[in-house]
This record gives sequence, structure tokens and C-alpha cells, in this order.
Amino acid sequence: MLIDLHTHSVASDGTQQPADVIASAVEAGLDVVALTDHDTTSGWEEAADAARRLGMVFVPGTEVSCSWRGISVHLLSYLHDPENAGLLGEIEHARASREHRAERMVELIARDYALTWDDVTAQASEGATLGRPHIADALVACGHVASRDAAFETILASGSGYYVGHYAPDPVDAVRLVRAAGGVPVFAHPRASARGRTVGDDVIEAMVDAGLAGLEVDHRDHLPEDRARLREIAASHDLLVTGSSDYHGTGKQNLLGENTTGPAAFERIEAEGTAPPIRP
Ligand code: AMP
Ligand code: FE
Ligand code: FE
Ligand code: ZN
Repeated sequence: MLIDLHTHSVASDGTQQPADVIASAVEAGLDVVALTDHDTTSGWEEAADAARRLGMVFVPGTEVSCSWRGISVHLLSYLHDPENAGLLGEIEHARASREHRAERMVELIARDYALTWDDVTAQASEGATLGRPHIADALVACGHVASRDAAFETILASGSGYYVGHYAPDPVDAVRLVRAAGGVPVFAHPRASARGRTVGDDVIEAMVDAGLAGLEVDHRDHLPEDRARLREIAASHDLLVTGSSDYHGTGKQNLLGENTTGPAAFERIEAEGTAPPIRP
């Protein structure tokens, strides 16, 4: 059984419609797929319909943006109530702040490169959670850089003069909010250090005390030693371990099913979540 619990659609910074992510998951030979767009659940309905039609098990999820002392942390939530006020409030706050931050980044970039806010919104679906990838796509469309990767290595790098942060909840608070919303919180790519600073084991332990369910261990941004250390932490706290692609369509090189989650971990997620997965 092939299970991939981390993908993105145009509801955030992926490049495919939610239904097309599901169709691609079927083509890739997956049996279970989660859609985990950044700070939104707007792709769930379309993905669920497609999964029912195409005979795929669908796990609704969200990748919740968090921030710990300025360090970006991503928390996956599975099977939560999308209407839960506490979690929704934080997600909406982060989404609004992301929009202001993107506007501010475009103002700064526009001092040196011909780039407008319209260029950026042209790259995002209506209502999508805005992120640096949309600014990257606009920079590519305007001919300033060759690819999303090139944009992230230069103009959009967190150390560049154009980078602006955005509001995001504390990861320990976010774990509590996900549990209160009936969701299953899994720390996404906890040691993906190539993309910026990562938090120490002490923060992971504080998240465990708050109710963290698992760690995403098998992810392309983790080195073998990262995976080994994360497996140790998971074993010592009885956390479940996942592996996922973090697929973004053509927006990243990550391929569906390149890392997968074992059936036992998926069973635990299903047992701990309030909402059931969608089965065909
Ligand atoms: P943001 O949350 O707006 O600061 O942007 C970070 C997002 O950009 C992450 O969710 C990644 O999915 C995406 N990202 C980071 N690095 C890259 C890259 N090199 N190429 C494409 N997408 C990236
Ligand atoms: Fe992303
Ligand atoms: Fe992430
Ligand atoms: Zn992701």
C-alpha cells in the first residue's frame, strides 16, 4: 500500500488543481494521498470528489505555518474540523499576514526589478494562500530569473534584502489548536536545514508535551543523519513516523510517492483524527 501524506495544489503554492493532484496520485500508483495546502482547506472538497470518482483514499490536511523565534516551522494537521474557530483564527491570521508580507516584498523588489503586484496575483489562483513561490513565478514570467529554485537562491532567499517575515502561530500553541480541532499534528520536515534555520530538539519536545502525534522523517530535504536522529526522537516519545513527497506539481522537483508512510502510521492517524478519511 503506497501512502503519501503531503502534497500541494493551486489552493496554495502547488501548480495543479486539487482534482489533478488526485489524478496524478492515481497515475503514480498511490493508494492513499493527503492534500496539505499551506494554511487553507479550500482544496478539500474538489480533491475529495475526485478521490471518490477515481477510487483513491483521500486524507484532508493542512500545512499550518508556524514561527518559533523567527524560525519557520511547518505543522501538518490531518483530519481536523475545518470550521474549528481556534485553529481557523490562527490560520486566517497567518494568511492575511502573508498577503501583506507579499505586498511588502514586491514593493522592495520593485525598487530594483520591474515587478508589479498584478504580476504576482496573476500567478496565484483566486483565494490561494500567497507565498514566496508566487513571487518566484512572477519573477520567472517577467524574465528576471530562470526558475523558482533560482528565485529562492537569490532574490527570495531569507537572507536577501527583499525578505519580509509574516505572522504565524507558535508551534507549541499550534499543536494544541490542532488537537482541539480534532486533528492529528505531525511536524513537517523538522530538519530541512537547506531552506533556513530549524528548531532544536527542545522545541520538538515542547511540541510533544503539547500533544504532537508524529514526525515527518522521510522527506527529500533530510540527510541520512537527520532521519536517524528523528527516528530516535520518535522512538523515545512513541511518535508515529511519516514519509512524504511534499509534491508541488511542477513548482518543485519533488515527485508523488518519492517517500511514503507505512500502513501502521496511517492507521494511527486515522484512529486519532476526528474526521474520517474519504474512501471511494
Ligand atoms: P513562504 O512560506 O512564503 O516563506 O515560502 C516558503 C515556501 O516556498 C515553502 O512552503 C516551500 O514549499 C516553497 N519553497 C521553498 N524553497 C523552494 C524552492 N527552492 N523552490 C520552490 N519552492 C520552494
Ligand atoms: Fe510550499
Ligand atoms: Fe513545508
Ligand atoms: Zn509542504
